[in-house]
Amino acid sequence: MTQVEDMVVVGTGPAGLTAAIYGARSGITPLVFAGTQHGGQLTTTTDVENFPGFAEGILGPKLMEDMTTQAKRVGAQIKYAQIDEVGFSDDGQTKKLFTSEGQEILAKTVILCTGATAKTLGLNQENTLMGHGISTCATCDGFFYRNKVVAVVGGGDSAMEESLFLANLAQKVFLIHRRDAFRASHIMVERAQKHPNITFLTPYNVEKIHSQDTQVAALSAITIKHTQTHETKDLSLDGLFYAIGHTPNSQTFLPWVQTDDHGYVKVVDQVKTQTEGVYAAGDLCDPHFKQAITAAGLGCQAAMTAIRYLDES
Ligand code: NAP
Repeated sequence: MTQVEDMVVVGTGPAGLTAAIYGARSGITPLVFAGTQHGGQLTTTTDVENFPGFAEGILGPKLMEDMTTQAKRVGAQIKYAQIDEVGFSDDGQTKKLFTSEGQEILAKTVILCTGATAKTLGLNQENTLMGHGISTCATCDGFFYRNKVVAVVGGGDSAMEESLFLANLAQKVFLIHRRDAFRASHIMVERAQKHPNITFLTPYNVEKIHSQDTQVAALSAITIKHTQTHETKDLSLDGLFYAIGHTPNSQTFLPWVQTDDHGYVKVVDQVKTQTEGVYAAGDLCDPHFKQAITAAGLGCQAAMTAIRYLDES
């Protein structure tokens, strides 16, 4: 007979690994699937200075490596495979997961922690310069740009919020948006427009990224192009922040979990999906905070809720 796992965790970002640590320390052996990006979004950043407990900061990949070691040490079993498909019965009694290797897994509880992927512009050098002048998180990386010149791309609430956050640290912030109209709420746009450190450049697209050839390539400038006149301009920059939205990695779990219009998994009581015994945590269900520490906190809540469910069933 196929073994039924007590807890299967899908994803190994801060939410998944925290869920694994809490699950393992409750006396069960969580089976954790690492997926395609083991460690999640933090593996694409450099210094992390806002995760409490690291007085001198820590490199994102190192933080995730240590969380993995910790999860294994307390008894979680990590599988370097991907979950391609799931199937949950409405009453929550049957929970099946199918791996990329064709294996079928049965579980009593499932914690979905596959995160979200920041959208990027797909420009030349983007991948090389990610963490070296290009960032998808001002809250995480803004501190490294004190008194520097930066630009934020986007016209939604995130772009406004990130510009305002950066305006208090950087010497100058350019807000570049491809249209004259904004998706962001009126009040946020007005607040950004009134800030003396923020200059709006619309309607412009970022055309090219330029880097300087130091030991480690670093962003030096960008070329922007007016969408109507096609006039181009070069801007010397120290930092370029993308705030053009995120794609939650929820596709694999459809139609078994409900999502909002943007694809974020809908949860009640912070972590419960509509199926009993199936939980979601981290950026997969959080369009607002998107921080490693909030994801870790939700991972903890999901595991504790799952453990209570196991105890009661
Ligand atoms: P969003 O609302 O989807 O806005 C994304 C922005 O990026 C849009 O202005 C879009 O331009 C632009 N964009 C997308 N792809 C682009 C591309 N390839 N090139 C150039 N520009 C591109 O995303 P968000 O700002 O991250 O917000 C997500 C959700 O969280 C929203 O519901 C938002 O209200 C919410 N949120 C709320 C707060 C708050 O209340 N404090 C803060 C942050 C986020 P177009 O407009 O031309 O499509």
